[in-house]
Order: sequence, then C-alpha cells, then structure tokens
Amino acid sequence: MDYQAILEEIQEEIQPFLSQGKVADYIPALAKIKKEQFGLSLTLFDGTNYSVGASDTLFSIQSISKVFTFTLALKFFGPNLYKRIGHEPSGNPFNSLVQLEYEHGKPRNPFINAGAINVTDALINYYGSEELAYAEVLEFIRSIADDSSIVTDELVAQSEMDHGHRNLALANLMKSFKNLDNCPQRVVETYFRHCAVEMNTKMLSRAVLYLANHGEDPITNKIYISAQQAKRINAVMLTCGHYDASGDFAFHVGLPGKSGVGGGIIVVVPKKMGIAVFAPGLNEQGNSLVGTMALELFAQKTGLSIF
Ligand code: GLN
Repeated sequence: MDYQAILEEIQEEIQPFLSQGKVADYIPALAKIKKEQFGLSLTLFDGTNYSVGASDTLFSIQSISKVFTFTLALKFFGPNLYKRIGHEPSGNPFNSLVQLEYEHGKPRNPFINAGAINVTDALINYYGSEELAYAEVLEFIRSIADDSSIVTDELVAQSEMDHGHRNLALANLMKSFKNLDNCPQRVVETYFRHCAVEMNTKMLSRAVLYLANHGEDPITNKIYISAQQAKRINAVMLTCGHYDASGDFAFHVGLPGKSGVGGGIIVVVPKKMGIAVFAPGLNEQGNSLVGTMALELFAQKTGLSIF
C-alpha cells in the first residue's frame, strides 16, 4: 500500500475543515494554540515512518498520557488495579463529577480524569513519591518513543493547576470515599505534569508500537507488558478512549485510540502500525475534530480496522 500517497490525499481532503472546532481554552496556556494546524504520522514495525503536515510540531499530549500511566499501573498492580478503578465506558464528559458521586468514588475507567488521577495515585504509592512517579512516567514515555529529548511544558502544567478546580474536586471526592491514598493536591499536580508532556505525531506513532505488538516494542524488542495486558489496554482504548464519543469513534474508525485536548489522537493498528494525528480544533466531546475525520478517512482508504 502506498501509505505516503494516502496520507497526502487525507491532508488534502481535510483542509476545508481546519477552521472548525474549538481549541481547549479551559487551560489558558493551550488557548493560544493556532487552530489551523494538521500533522499525521504512521510508523510501521520496522521503524519506517510516513508523515504529512506538522508532524514535527510538539504539542501537549494531555489525556494521551493516560494510556502510558495506565500501562505502568497495570504492569505493577495487575488485576488488583481494578479494585480502585473500573474498565467500563462512562458515557459522560471526561471531567464529570456526577457519576463519581453515585459510584462511591470509584472511577468508571482509567481514561476519564478521575480514573487517570486515581492511576497517578497508585503510581505514587508504587514509586514512593510524587517526584519519582513523575520522573518514571516520563522515562517510560522516552523509552517507548525511543527519544530522550521528550520533556514536560511546565508552563502548561502550572496553567492547568491554576485553573484545575474541577480536577481537584474529583480528587477530593475520591479522597472522601477513601479511594485516594495521597494528598489530592499533590496527586493532581503530578497528573497535570504527565498531561503536559510535549510530543509530535512522529514520536507518538512510534511510541504506541508496543500496544500494536502484544506489549513488545517491535524495533528494540523490549518487553514492556504482557500480551494479555496489551490486549486489555487496547480494549479499554476502543471502548473508553474518546469519552462520551467512544462509541462514535469505534463506529467510524474501528480501531483502538486515545485522544487528548491538546488536539492529538493516537491509534493502534494491531500487528501492523502506530498512528498519531494532531489538529487542535476540538469537537463538543473534547476530541480533535479534524483528527477524527482524518482517521476515519484513513480507515476507509486502507480498509484497516479491527472489525
Ligand atoms: N489535563 C486535561 C484535564 O485534566 C486532560 C483532559 C483531556 O485531554 N481530555 O482536563
């Protein structure tokens, strides 16, 4: 298949829609991002990369980081992790408080904010401190991306902390239900620092290869997690990766994926490749509007889907 030609066709076809959607302005440091940007990359198992557009532009990975923290927590705690969080779709916005109250402080899944904050809390327990948990997650991301230049934009993390009242409320609510072990403020700070890691689509499409290959990096042969765990993560991405638009994404794209409000989406094509797209205009549910469109076009043109 001529992947480069397909990516170029997609880039052409999405142009008229680039002015649509809305950048994530609830995080002031992200509000100034130029909306008319588009990058799309795919990386195959032998490391071959195909890219178009702004594929070198670094952006805030935001909720895409939840896949990486979930990976580590599942590796360390195994099925015990599900005592703290579930693995069912929420059907609610990513930062909803209502369901968390009804369900006694146990988040539906690791990809809504409450779930990811809870996973961060588990990692702080495992590593023994917030600092170490942050540093080890960053190290893991650098390892899977095979790129030691990756860093956090501390200004974005701080900006989110300054306006993160709702996330703090989620953490406090879990604490009140005794489903959070550490200081809510510190846990949320650590979570924001992971969300504010900056990557581009080339790096991200490379980083998710371990999920396409049963937990093993096909290029370096490093085994990060078991095949069973990789399968579980892909399943949760398929059912919960796009919040209340997860069903829609499965319907239109048919591949496990995870979005972030920075405008990025990662997608796993099992046994074949990693894909990442970047387009900062978001739809109502906080997922990249043009990114979703581009992935749907990709699935149509290539016939790649898990179904
Ligand atoms: N850091 C963001 C938040 O907590 C992540 C949300 C997202 O990317 N959907 O609100």
